Amino acid sequence: MVFCSCPEDILKNTVVDKSVIIVGAGLGGLATALRLSHKGYRVTIIEKQGNSGGRLNVLKKDGFTFDIGPSFFSMSYEFKELFESIGEPMPFEINELDPLYSVHMSGNSRVFKIYKDLGKLADEFRGIEDDFEVKVRKYLKGAKEIFHDTEYKIIKRNFNGIVDYAMSMANVPLKHLPSLFRTFWKELELHFDSEEVKIIFSLVAFFLGATPFNTPSVYKLLNYTELEHDGYWNVKGGMYKIVDGIVGLLEKKGVEILYNTEILSVHQEMGRMTSVTDQNSRKYEADLFVVNADAAWFRGKFLNRKKYTVEKLDKMDWTLAPFTIYLGVKGLIPGIQHHNYFLGDNFHDYADTIFSSNLAPEKPYYYVNVATKSNQDAAPEGCENLFILCPVPDLRVKPDWSDAEKLSQDIIEDLGKRVKFDIQNNILCKVVYTPIDWKNMFHLYRGSGLGLAHGLSQIGGLRPSNKDEKLHNVYYVGASSHPGTGLPIVVIGSKLVTERILNEHQTV
Ligand SMILES: Cc1cc2nc3c(=O)[nH]c(=O)nc-3n(C[C@H](O)[C@H](O)[C@H](O)COP(=O)(O)OP(=O)(O)OC[C@H]3O[C@@H](n4cnc5c(N)ncnc54)[C@H](O)[C@@H]3O)c2cc1C
Repeated sequence: MVFCSCPEDILKNTVVDKSVIIVGAGLGGLATALRLSHKGYRVTIIEKQGNSGGRLNVLKKDGFTFDIGPSFFSMSYEFKELFESIGEPMPFEINELDPLYSVHMSGNSRVFKIYKDLGKLADEFRGIEDDFEVKVRKYLKGAKEIFHDTEYKIIKRNFNGIVDYAMSMANVPLKHLPSLFRTFWKELELHFDSEEVKIIFSLVAFFLGATPFNTPSVYKLLNYTELEHDGYWNVKGGMYKIVDGIVGLLEKKGVEILYNTEILSVHQEMGRMTSVTDQNSRKYEADLFVVNADAAWFRGKFLNRKKYTVEKLDKMDWTLAPFTIYLGVKGLIPGIQHHNYFLGDNFHDYADTIFSSNLAPEKPYYYVNVATKSNQDAAPEGCENLFILCPVPDLRVKPDWSDAEKLSQDIIEDLGKRVKFDIQNNILCKVVYTPIDWKNMFHLYRGSGLGLAHGLSQIGGLRPSNKDEKLHNVYYVGASSHPGTGLPIVVIGSKLVTERILNEHQTV
């Protein structure tokens, strides 16, 4: 099994005494700080915002507590591994989602509950897809093989350049080759007949920064991770408990976090970074630097790398931007579950235009999380806490958000009709973040919510590396670096970058 270029016992046994500055207190920065401080590194985190978490953040208003970004995650065992690796119990409690989510399709009175139990899932598609259970088991068998045949060869290992990556790719069994050339949608067509099943199973493609019509079918592995492998999980008391828990452990380990401190320039000498400087011209020196800000943007903005100029960044593929609404609503809404997708009746048109239209979507597709369905503390008694996420084009395509209020009204009106509840007249509090807000809060490039997309040209050894190309003491962790975006993947990234650092700087 190939895992990384350094043996596991380096992680277990080495104790190193060096100073590290981590730029950014997102999940990647926090998890890396945990691992490195456990090894004896003296870690300081520098964060531009007034609290930790980055996109995994919280908003409190009028008695409501909203998770602003992530609301669930897959591969929960990656969090378990993180805390086991530092000899601590997990400082928060996780719950498996059952059902995983519900899907409301416009013009279809049936609400599809998506269960991990394939027998129960077959009941949901009864009368829509004949022999669903037989077909889905066959489909997931192939998806499972791709997941396990690439997990340690592509995702959970470091790459030392393109040749190393190409060699690792060459070790992936040849039988998966057709999956590189077939689109996700084509693969679904080979297995299923109904539009409903194909649409629902293909939603994961949008998280990758693509549509099912232009992304390769290898990504059906995500259907395996959600439907069979480990499902989806959330956190008791809200997702921000992850951050609270990690920050508590970091305090115990003596890690200092400097808030409201933005790095505006960096200094290099003889092939190494010597210091970073904040908005008050304060300089911070360290032996090593880990950048948790966007790995592509940072290289262009602060290191003037030709590969990452604004022109080059704009030509890369980025995931969609978030348009998010946080609503405190009086009354309990019966027609809605905890995790819900609301889709229109024009899926193919939607997929064709969502990445390229400079207009707010006329028939928005959106996700609604009702935190109060599992956590009553998220709202005052008798009220619901709604987080609505509508993926929209990033700021390259739609820079003007003067129509934000109209889009939020359209979504609230549509949602009210579909769940048969007068949301509009029961709003107690409302906050809207446009892609401009997301960009400004966390330096998300052009407001892209999940960072660089995961097309074949931007993964593995082709994604911005977690090791700087020129500065031997600079590393990266987070969504736009290897292995990629999403909470568990970023946690894997923290393990990979720690392994690299221990491997390359193990002198005590
Ligand atoms: C709306 C939304 C919903 C999502 N939903 C999910 C979900 O349900 N499940 C899931 O798994 N993932 C989800 N994601 C993705 C997930 O949030 C990200 O993949 C993950 O949080 C990225 O973590 P990161 O370590 O890259 O850090 P980030 O969260 O990007 O943090 C980087 C930090 O660096 C700081 N920073 C940047 N520049 C500087 C500077 N110059 N000086 C100092 N500090 C700086 C930023 O302020 C930020 O705090 C969602 C994302 C969004 C936006």
